[in-house]
Amino acid sequence: MLPQFNSDYLSGSYRGRFAPSPSGALHFGSLIAALASYLDAKINHGQWLVRMEDIDTPRVVAGAADEILRTLDAYGLHWDGEVVYQSQRHDLYQDVLAQLSAADLIYPCSCTRKALKQRGGIYDNHCRARQLSPEGNALRLTQTQPVYSFTDLLQGEVQLSNALAEEDYIVKRRDDLFAYQLVVVVDDIDQQITRIVRGADLLEPTARQISLFRQLIGDAPDYAHVSLAVAQPGFKLSKQNHAPAIDNTRPQPALCAALRFLGLPVPDELQHDSVPTILRWAEQQFTLQALPRHREIQVSLLNDGHYDFTRLTA
Ligand code: GLU
Ligand code: ZN
Repeated sequence: MLPQFNSDYLSGSYRGRFAPSPSGALHFGSLIAALASYLDAKINHGQWLVRMEDIDTPRVVAGAADEILRTLDAYGLHWDGEVVYQSQRHDLYQDVLAQLSAADLIYPCSCTRKALKQRGGIYDNHCRARQLSPEGNALRLTQTQPVYSFTDLLQGEVQLSNALAEEDYIVKRRDDLFAYQLVVVVDDIDQQITRIVRGADLLEPTARQISLFRQLIGDAPDYAHVSLAVAQPGFKLSKQNHAPAIDNTRPQPALCAALRFLGLPVPDELQHDSVPTILRWAEQQFTLQALPRHREIQVSLLNDGHYDFTRLTA
């Protein structure tokens, strides 16, 4: 456990967050994650924070972070406190890495993706005892807290393979960037997040994140993974499959469609109300328990601008 962190905040008041990667404008899929985490925070009288996950600099698109904030504003999703930017927090991440390293839990690894593929896909802790130089290599965390299963508030019991649970995963990449798995947990601790509501594409990585929470503070927040909006089975809505940016000038249709996606019985007339009225209605209707529990829901944008949903995986 690290001296500057402890788990006391987990029993304190609700703090949730939305953590977009500014690799493009918000599309319907990211609106769902934003809206679900926002509504859950609101009905629990909690704080709702926004964090820009701009640590993966090659994927960051200039102007996207500001555009995302403008969209959240247009959709009435007003955040508490200052927006946190991961790109400005290198010292914090470096400090945590140094402490893990001082505890002898960090080691360099030279395995390429290709080599791992040939050895079965999952890293087999091959470089643990090799004493490689950090120069030009990735850094991995020795896994001392393997998580074989966990309970998600929506998806229920999630089981991991032993190989995945016991894998020493990368915390700093070969290209010298801090890995998502490290910074997401350090930030969630630093921002004292008590419940994480996000898309089900992050269900499996959650086991790693819980293991790092246990390593750092001995406990972990609650997780709720909302059905993922996909264009085709297995393919989440993204810029790559041409998910259009959502409309900032007329937010009502996409907002109402996102609420329908979340299982709320949105009356047709609601579309013609103001954004604050729609959100107030949603706060009265929303419960985590009533959300669909499918891993994926296929979204089709119809020609008339309506959205159509097909629930895919139970
Ligand atoms: N930045 C991640 C994404 O956009 C989400 C991280 C998280 O919610 O933990 O996919
Ligand atoms: Zn290796």
